[in-house]
Amino acid sequence: MQAISDNPVSMASYASMQRAGGDLQFNFNLGVRFDAIGQTNPAARLIQLYPAAISAEAKRLGYAPLTYAARVFTHEVDHLMDMHRGVWQNTRYAEFQAYKMESLFQNWTRPSLDARRMIWHEVGEDYPHLPVGKNPFGGLRAQRSAGTLCLLNNDQH
Ligand SMILES: [Zn+2]
Repeated sequence: MQAISDNPVSMASYASMQRAGGDLQFNFNLGVRFDAIGQTNPAARLIQLYPAAISAEAKRLGYAPLTYAARVFTHEVDHLMDMHRGVWQNTRYAEFQAYKMESLFQNWTRPSLDARRMIWHEVGEDYPHLPVGKNPFGGLRAQRSAGTLCLLNNDQH
């Protein structure tokens, strides 16, 4: 896919996926999992992207759909690499790591501390059902200040 090779971050993700023996598939079936925009099957090492759902979310967030698909791909490869290393857990922390990849894809630079706090807050909103796993900012106090920061920057959501 052209959009993947257009961005050095998704290019690197593609190379990692290949090294891990993974594969990418587009699922055009609108009937299944419309709530998901992408998912990774650990046993099959198969990343599936859902173009219709990706387009809808890209439109909602104001991104070009193909570029956004490449961004979601970097997210899923991060999960795949956790699986490959045998450290995969379905936690907010794993989503935090994957969101950081999306941030890297978008900005070509690692997120700042403030940006990471925003990401952690966002993950909490997007995945309230998942166990924390590991809090990247340590204790309760850090979490509370992250929450305040997000309230102040609410217009960026
Ligand atoms: Zn994820």
